[in-house]
Amino acid sequence: MQKTISLISARWIAPVEPADTLFENHTVVIEGGTIKAIMPTAAARASYVGAVETKLENHILIPGLINLHTHAAMTLLRGLADDKPLMTWLNDHIWPAETKLLSKEFVLDGTQLACAESLRAGVTCFADMYFYHDTAAAAVRKAGMRAALGGAILEFPTPYASDAEAYIQRALEVRQDFDSDPTLKLLLSPHAPYTVSDATFERVATIAAEMDVQVMVHIQETASEITDSLKQYNERPIARLDRLGVIGPNLIAVHCVHMNAEEIALFSAKSVHVAHCPVSNLKLGSGIAPINAMLAANINVGIGTDGTASNNRLDMLAEARLAGLLQKGVSGDAASLPALKLLEMCTLAPAKALGWDAEIGSLLPGKACDMVALNLDTIETQPVFDPLSHLFYAAGREHVSHVWVDGKVLLENGKLTRLDEAELMIKAKSWAARVGS
Ligand SMILES: [Zn+2]
Repeated sequence: MQKTISLISARWIAPVEPADTLFENHTVVIEGGTIKAIMPTAAARASYVGAVETKLENHILIPGLINLHTHAAMTLLRGLADDKPLMTWLNDHIWPAETKLLSKEFVLDGTQLACAESLRAGVTCFADMYFYHDTAAAAVRKAGMRAALGGAILEFPTPYASDAEAYIQRALEVRQDFDSDPTLKLLLSPHAPYTVSDATFERVATIAAEMDVQVMVHIQETASEITDSLKQYNERPIARLDRLGVIGPNLIAVHCVHMNAEEIALFSAKSVHVAHCPVSNLKLGSGIAPINAMLAANINVGIGTDGTASNNRLDMLAEARLAGLLQKGVSGDAASLPALKLLEMCTLAPAKALGWDAEIGSLLPGKACDMVALNLDTIETQPVFDPLSHLFYAAGREHVSHVWVDGKVLLENGKLTRLDEAELMIKAKSWAARVGS
C-alpha cells in the first residue's frame, strides 16, 4: 500500500544538516511520518499534485527541539522553593515534598503537564530522570512525543524503591516495552556522585556497557560537591567516576559547572556528552559552566532545562539564548555560540548524546519528521534580516505555531491537538492544594 504524501511549505527552513544551510521558499515532503525530501516549493507542487499542503508563508521550520535534561514530573513542584542553594533546596524542600507526594498518579499528571508545556515551546523530545518511568512513558505516548526516560537510582528508600538494587531493577523492568517502541529510549540515571555509592556506580557502568544504554548523572554541579568528595573519597567526583568505569561515550554528564583542564581533556578523550542547564545553574547559585572550553575540546554539548522546580520553565529557546549570552559575556567574544550553533545544541547535539541522531535531530531525508514552525510575522519579530538569529534573540516560545512528531501535528496554530489543556489545568491546581497541605 502506498503511503500518503503531505507537504509543509515554509518561507524559511533551517535543517541543521547540512551545516550552514538555510532554505528559502522550500517544502518538506513527508511520507508516512518520514522526511522524503526538501525541495523548492514550486517543484514540490509540480511533483506531488493533489498532496495536502500546509502553507506557512511567514514561518521558519526547524527540527524539533530536544531537551537533554529534565525531571518532567517535578513540573507539579514549579515555584515551590525558589531562591535557595542546591542542598537546602533539595534537603529541606524538594525531597520532603516528594516523600509526601511521590506516586504513579503524581508522575502521570506531572509528566503530562510537562509534555503540554514542552510542545507549546517546540520541544518534541526530552531526556528525563525520575521515578516511575513506566508511568512517564504512558504520558509521553498520550502526548505523541518522544522521550529518553531514565529510572532514577539512589541508595536511600523512597515510595518507589527500597535500596540501590531495587532502583536498578525498577529502571530495567521497562526495557522490553521501551525497546519495542521507536518513540522511547531507556536511560540509567544514578542521581549524583554524592547520593550513589561506588558499588552502585560500578554496577550501573557494567549494565550500561552490556546493554548499550546511555547513563545520565548530575556531575560537579556545585563547588561544595567537589570539596565534599575530596574529604570523603580523597578525589574529585569525575576522577572517582573514572575509576569506577562510568566515564565513557555512554555517559551524559549533566551540569559540569566546575571543571578543570584535565577533566575537560578526559571528557574529550572518552567522548562524554554534556547536558548544559544554564538557568538552573544560575538560579541555584551553582555557577557558569565552561562551555566554550568544552566545545573547543570537541565535547558534544546539548542544552537542557533541568526540572521546573529549579528553572522554572521548560523553554529551550530561552535556555539557549541564555547559554549563548553567558558564553559571550564570560569570554568577551561576541562570536561565541552564534545562533546556528545554539540551534545545533538544541537539536542535533542532544540527539547524538542520546544515540538517536540516525532518526532525529535534523531535517534530513530519511529522518523522522519531528519539526517545529515559528511564526515570525509578529510585531516583536519585525523586521526579519536573519531568521536564524531571530530564533534566539527576538522570538520566543510564544511564536511556536506548529509542532509535528513523526509527521503528526501535535500543535496546530498554537493549539494542542491531543492534550486537553483545561483538564491539565484542573489537575495541576488540585496537586498544588495537596503540596501545600
Ligand atoms: Zn537535574
